[in-house]
Amino acid sequence: KWEKRGDAGGERILVSIRLRPLNAKEIARNDTTDWECINDTTIIFRNSVPERSMAPVAYTFDRVFRSDCSTRQVYEDAAKQVALSAVSGINSTIFAYGQTSSGKTYTMIGITEYTVSDIYDYIQRHEERAFVLKFSAIEIYNEAVRDLLSPDSTPLRLLDDPERGTIVEKLTEETLNDWDHLCKLLSICEAQRQIGETSLNEMSSRSHQILRLTIESSAREFLGKENSSTLVASVNFVDLAGSERASQALSGGTRLKEGCHINRSLLTLGTVIRKLSKNRNGHIPYRDSKLTRILQPSLGGNSRTAIICTMSPAHSHLEQSRNTLFFANCAK
Ligand code: ADP
Ligand code: MG
Repeated sequence: KWEKRGDAGGERILVSIRLRPLNAKEIARNDTTDWECINDTTIIFRNSVPERSMAPVAYTFDRVFRSDCSTRQVYEDAAKQVALSAVSGINSTIFAYGQTSSGKTYTMIGITEYTVSDIYDYIQRHEERAFVLKFSAIEIYNEAVRDLLSPDSTPLRLLDDPERGTIVEKLTEETLNDWDHLCKLLSICEAQRQIGETSLNEMSSRSHQILRLTIESSAREFLGKENSSTLVASVNFVDLAGSERASQALSGGTRLKEGCHINRSLLTLGTVIRKLSKNRNGHIPYRDSKLTRILQPSLGGNSRTAIICTMSPAHSHLEQSRNTLFFANCAK
């Protein structure tokens, strides 16, 4: 028996932009920046090449973060509310979108840790309920789904379950004991991603990583009794493949097979997000890619979504940054 879930209230997708600082390489080549966050919601573009200077263009989002903002602040303002709704039975997803080296992984690692820490806090303050946390992790590379908690790298199949929707067959799901256990699992995921790969950066720029935390809870006073019921929801932390792959496909370049497949998941995600942000009741093409099939229960229906778009501030990355803003604009 399942308890009635909270209501996400058909909310829009929360979209924010995070600038990272110029890195050593960019500073060394005297790269300049075209971007300035003038308040909490507005980022302006002003071409930093003097001969191309023009009137500034403003873009507004739910939240924009300057390059000196901490991940803690990004979490508090752009992810926390969405992520923690899973404790009241609402599925949620936090995405990091952006070109390779813009700060997706840096941002997602922090947000994942802050979320789990806050969930443990919540559990301690709600002794009237019994909680079980479960953790699973997958990678989608070349439209093949791999279990990041298993040494076996055989691709996993997706199955359609009449009650639970799309599920990943044979996926490892660990019941979390405590914080240290989570840290151990995260390092296993990290090690799994590196196996057999010559360059981790090459791999991570082409694959999507989804960490899923499932929260089950029941009121203690009914435990073991007939009227006992369980509330269950997941929060997904999605570190997307580098968005430069998608823009390469859009510009018509013939790429390797990897490129095409990454584009399928990333491009389908773009379409799904765009349609969700306009009309949640129309046809949404979840089934067109593995990523969107797996995330369907946490994207449509009674769910909450936050997208954090990470951007390099450097003028040399201007084209990619504009593509990122274009994606962010379509999502809001
Ligand atoms: P991506 O996952 O998008 O490829 P990373 O998260 O790996 O990018 O970031 C690239 C590099 O920049 C890393 O060395 C990371 O530590 C650093 N970095 C990213 N964002 C920030 C930030 N906001 N502040 C400081 N360093 C950052
Ligand atoms: Mg990364």
